[in-house]
Amino acid sequence: MAETTIYDKSSPGRRGVRFPQPDVPLTKLPESLMRKELPLPEVSENEVVRHFTRLSQLNYGVDIGFYPLGSCTMKYNPKVNEAAARLPGFALIHPLQPVDTVQGALHLMYELQEHLKEIGGFAGMTLQPAAGAHGELTGVLIIKKFHEVNGEPQRNKILIPDSAHGTNPATSAMSGFKVVEIPSDGRGNVDLEALRAECDETLAGFMLTNPNTLGLFDENVCDISALVHEAGGLMYGDGANMNALLGIAKPGEFGVDIMHYNLHKTFSTPHGGGGPGSGPVGVCERLVDFLPGPVVVAETIDDGFEMPFYRFDVPKYSIGRMKAFHGHFGMMVRAYAYILAHGAEGLREVSEYAVLNANYLMHKLKGVYKLPYDRVCMHEFVIEGRWSGIEDIHALDISKRLMDYGFHPPTNYFPLIVREALMIEPTETESIETLDAFAEAMLRIAEEAKTNPEILHEAPHNTPIGRLDEVQAAKNLILCCGLPTQYAE
Ligand SMILES: *Cc1c(COP(=O)(O)O)cnc(C)c1O
Repeated sequence: MAETTIYDKSSPGRRGVRFPQPDVPLTKLPESLMRKELPLPEVSENEVVRHFTRLSQLNYGVDIGFYPLGSCTMKYNPKVNEAAARLPGFALIHPLQPVDTVQGALHLMYELQEHLKEIGGFAGMTLQPAAGAHGELTGVLIIKKFHEVNGEPQRNKILIPDSAHGTNPATSAMSGFKVVEIPSDGRGNVDLEALRAECDETLAGFMLTNPNTLGLFDENVCDISALVHEAGGLMYGDGANMNALLGIAKPGEFGVDIMHYNLHKTFSTPHGGGGPGSGPVGVCERLVDFLPGPVVVAETIDDGFEMPFYRFDVPKYSIGRMKAFHGHFGMMVRAYAYILAHGAEGLREVSEYAVLNANYLMHKLKGVYKLPYDRVCMHEFVIEGRWSGIEDIHALDISKRLMDYGFHPPTNYFPLIVREALMIEPTETESIETLDAFAEAMLRIAEEAKTNPEILHEAPHNTPIGRLDEVQAAKNLILCCGLPTQYAE
């Protein structure tokens, strides 16, 4: 695609902007500061607009179509959230401003902390972490410090189910813990016997994702929490799947001591391009003093105004800062707008429809696609992208073929415990027509796999770029394709 860079459109003397005559005297810059050459493309305004608009159309996003990427909760992001985050009073403030000049921003942060505490059933909340994985790191460091302060530094083991997201063991290992994998049982729950066998005096904590990455609510969650607590461990909840629980169940009430949210998943803020995200962490009462500082606190002062005065405070045993300044404030504004727009009833409906949509789709596909755990699912479900007798069709072929039908593929090959896994999360923001169209495409692909497997192997056929070498595409990113090759090195 040689003509795709803006440099290919360059023609000497062409320009998109005319600068006004300077109203100050001209002076010469020192030679040493001058570049010999400045290779900028010379293009007209309409060429720039067309070029970048066309590039944007080569991409796929939630604003274009259905995006059932399991575990990522690619729901539609209401544009009013964007408008809120761009209000100058929010967008143009500086984190070093004196707190009495940013009381509105602190009010928003405080209120968001309160809402997130209420939704998850927690006593304390930090908004600092920049993503889910960063929230995990925050939580695991809290676990570590809690045991240290309690004089039990020998607690160096974290248990993690085999269905967990890779960030869970990565975070624990990075924080110096020994990671022990706990298998799932035949129903997709944590195997209680295997868990019991690991509950000893070295247990620091257990990291549970509930609903788990199979899209299943662990039926034994209260027993799991009891076992871990009796052994002196803490329960970490990976809250990436909170889209299934809003207004229905509070992790703090089923024994979770620490949990991160992914604001960019559950609370509908744009993601997928690498950030920025936000991963607030909630904790139970006995861990409030360990939260990273500073947190926003409210002081009621008798000054005749109704609003309390907000300030920052560092908890007593704080693990320290997790982020420069106070976290990704723009994400907080979006999530706050989303929460207020829905209200308590609306948030509950979000989860009810997310679960309904997933079950509807699951029932349309099961029978044709193998469903390894045939149970009522939560907001997502996992099927197998393989059939006995058609050995050379893989989940990846099905996903690539879906692109020909205009759909973003589901998550492939995760969770690891399902062969040829296809993890489908429709989210609540999709209509029944969209779900039907997707199911229809999936059923047609299953038919094609039998009658015309080649068409799957060669897919995608009508995307700007055909089948990529996935490993090379990820490991060998070409990020400077805007530059002519002589400058690209
Ligand atoms: C997305 C996700 C994470 C990691 O969250 P990031 O915000 O991408 O860092 C962790 N666990 C689960 C189950 C997830 O789906």
